[in-house]
Amino acid sequence: MAEPRLINADLHCHSVVSDGTLSPGDLVDRAHRNGVQILALTDHDEVAGLAEARARAEELGVGFVAGVEVSVTWASETIHVVGLRIDERDPSLLRGLDETREGRDARAREIAQQLERAGIPDAYEGALKYSGNPELISRSHFARYIVETGSCEDVSEVFGRFLVEGKPGFVPHRWARLADAVAWIRNAGGVAVMAHPGRYHRLGSLGLDELLAAFRDAGGRAIEVVSGSHTPSQYGEFEAVALRYGFDASRGSDFHGPGESRHDLGSLPPLPASLAPVWRDWPQARALERT
Ligand code: AMP
Ligand code: MN
Ligand code: MN
Ligand code: MN
Repeated sequence: MAEPRLINADLHCHSVVSDGTLSPGDLVDRAHRNGVQILALTDHDEVAGLAEARARAEELGVGFVAGVEVSVTWASETIHVVGLRIDERDPSLLRGLDETREGRDARAREIAQQLERAGIPDAYEGALKYSGNPELISRSHFARYIVETGSCEDVSEVFGRFLVEGKPGFVPHRWARLADAVAWIRNAGGVAVMAHPGRYHRLGSLGLDELLAAFRDAGGRAIEVVSGSHTPSQYGEFEAVALRYGFDASRGSDFHGPGESRHDLGSLPPLPASLAPVWRDWPQARALERT
């Protein structure tokens, strides 16, 4: 019987439907090859890839969880909230995601204007080439285009020199409200998970405390502890945070594509033994316990 904590669950990744580079089906193939037993596809602000991913997961016998990663603005910072086990047909969730996607095109045009002034012309068209879904045009697509121009070696260099506050190509944007994003997820039957809390260092530790308290008060249930966006020392830091707040814990690579992401699907270490895995009572986990 598999101890829930030791199930290879990867509950955070992206396909071409948002800013990943693999199709939903190819993503599931790769997860299966890597030994993932429960996979959640969590495209940014969009659920359109879930049907294809679920169908492939059923063929391969991979446990599948419908997910989404909602972009939120809280205290002027961009925060990501992952929804897991959502009903992707839920009308109010779909309306909320639809509203959240609005404005990406106008923002992309402004990003391109700034990049042009910084010596990188035609970036709007360039970024669109990398986007499988123009409604979800994102900084990742611009980053890939900037690498293509030869101005940077790789995407992580881009996010040091461009597209972030204080650098060319940064256009602030107002995403969904925290309480709304959590409510959409919960009303759609899902669990709200704070994505990669270790990435919000600009909030400072007091700000992070406030954020997590607001998230819990809004109905947030879990935080990502073992995340591809965390350093190993942050696994321990957020283990303590999860215990202090009584959050369940999640594990996810935040994989975007081969050659781009530091951590492949299903490759991160297990959650610390002190934590309650967010998937422990799910049917996908129970099915594995019986085998
Ligand atoms: P957007 O939603 O358009 O603001 O784009 C955000 C996306 O950019 C994130 O989901 C990541 O995929 C990517 N991103 C942000 N910061 C970095 C970084 N430092 N290194 C690599 N990718 C990043
Ligand atoms: Mn992304
Ligand atoms: Mn994220
Ligand atoms: Mn992500």
